[in-house]
Amino acid sequence: MQEMIERALSQEQRMMRDTIRAFVDKEVTPFIRKNWEREWDMKPENRPSRELLEGAHRIGVRTLGIPEEFGGTPLDPETEVQTFALVAEELSRGDSGLADKLVQIWKICKLLANIAPRHLQERWFPQIAEDPSFLLAHCLTEPRGASDRWLPYDVPEAMMHTRAALKGDKWVINGRKQFITNGYDAKLYVVYATTKPGAGITKGTSSFLVPRDTPGLTVARCNETLGGRFMNNGELVFEDCAVPRDHCLVEDIAMTKAGLYFRPGKIIVAAKNLGVGMAAFERTADYVQNYVQGGRILIKHQAVAMRLADMATKLNAVRALLNEAVRAVEAKAPDADVLCNMVKMFASVEIFQVVQHAVELHGGNGIMLDFGVEKLLRDASLFLHRDATVDISRFKIVKGLFPHTAGIYAGPEP
Ligand SMILES: Cc1cc2nc3c(=O)[nH]c(=O)nc-3n(C[C@H](O)[C@H](O)[C@H](O)COP(=O)(O)OP(=O)(O)OC[C@H]3O[C@@H](n4cnc5c(N)ncnc54)[C@H](O)[C@@H]3O)c2cc1C
Repeated sequence: MQEMIERALSQEQRMMRDTIRAFVDKEVTPFIRKNWEREWDMKPENRPSRELLEGAHRIGVRTLGIPEEFGGTPLDPETEVQTFALVAEELSRGDSGLADKLVQIWKICKLLANIAPRHLQERWFPQIAEDPSFLLAHCLTEPRGASDRWLPYDVPEAMMHTRAALKGDKWVINGRKQFITNGYDAKLYVVYATTKPGAGITKGTSSFLVPRDTPGLTVARCNETLGGRFMNNGELVFEDCAVPRDHCLVEDIAMTKAGLYFRPGKIIVAAKNLGVGMAAFERTADYVQNYVQGGRILIKHQAVAMRLADMATKLNAVRALLNEAVRAVEAKAPDADVLCNMVKMFASVEIFQVVQHAVELHGGNGIMLDFGVEKLLRDASLFLHRDATVDISRFKIVKGLFPHTAGIYAGPEP
């Protein structure tokens, strides 16, 4: 399996991978194992955050998406998507919550570098680069569901309920966002809101940059999640939340411009998911070669060996599809969008089965919190729902393949 990983990487990427792997193996994994009880502290502030972010800051992975002129870590643009994928996978091998936190910084910084006016970049990028605790969040999902927005059908009923209106020289935002990664801790939010009601989501949705201390923005709660618990997922309320006119990043066609965020975004989600699967495989491979039952180490029992083969095959299949999606995005190929949806969906389903094997092969130990393998099952479960559910991803794939039939809205006739 290692050979397959190596084949896709350049010398420079291997060096980067080795640095991150050393950080994960020496700092992240031991920290997570030692602090497993803190995952269950219901006070989000008490769950570890800063400790690991400082380590990530030290080795330069926090600032990957920030332009070099503002203190970011430079990446070769030709192979940037592959590099993000490898870093996301390695971090998630250690802890998927930590990977979630960092990935949002990269993705949002990449988005801002492309769409934010220069003076806002000059204001925010240096702050993000310098402060290890600086987190960002990307807010689309609302209490009335996200699936319609992921599809997206350009019909009025699928538009966001969060609204923004220009009043004088300010945009005034009203609404609610839920399930937002880093929502509880972020210092800067990108928020999507309807600005042209009735126009359809791709023609009437704008994006705004909202600093945490903006009056009218309330962080309403931290969601207690099943997995990824070292990332604090949050819910936000906007009540006459006014931002300066220039904080509108993209007016009306924000969803179209955000493709830049979504395509590599799906690859990175799949890569984080793969990291969880790889951790499950490594721990299980180690366990079955050392733990004795029935007079033999477990791997000598054929049923166990077959499950391990199944795990390895699934992981390699996900990696193969991931690498193909990376190539398509980097080549700006027409099938990039479909491949990104495929790998995000396929990874979530296959890796959930990989971790199920891991838990079963660990027997009772697989269920015990202090043993730590069940965490991988919990972490993997989140990927079935994030960045579109499995069913909605399948729908998007079919819409991409057959835009003239499957892509047409199935709702009321015009
Ligand atoms: C850990 C985590 C992190 C997240 N982070 C973010 C974030 O940072 N920013 C953000 O904006 N959002 C975030 N989300 C939200 C995520 O994108 C949504 O949860 C996801 O898209 C599903 O939307 P929903 O929860 O509203 O489900 P719903 O849209 O209510 O769907 C419920 C069920 O109905 C099905 N369904 C809905 N519509 C259809 C349809 N038309 N046809 C067939 N089936 C349908 C769905 O497949 C699903 O099974 C996060 C979610 C999780 C779990």
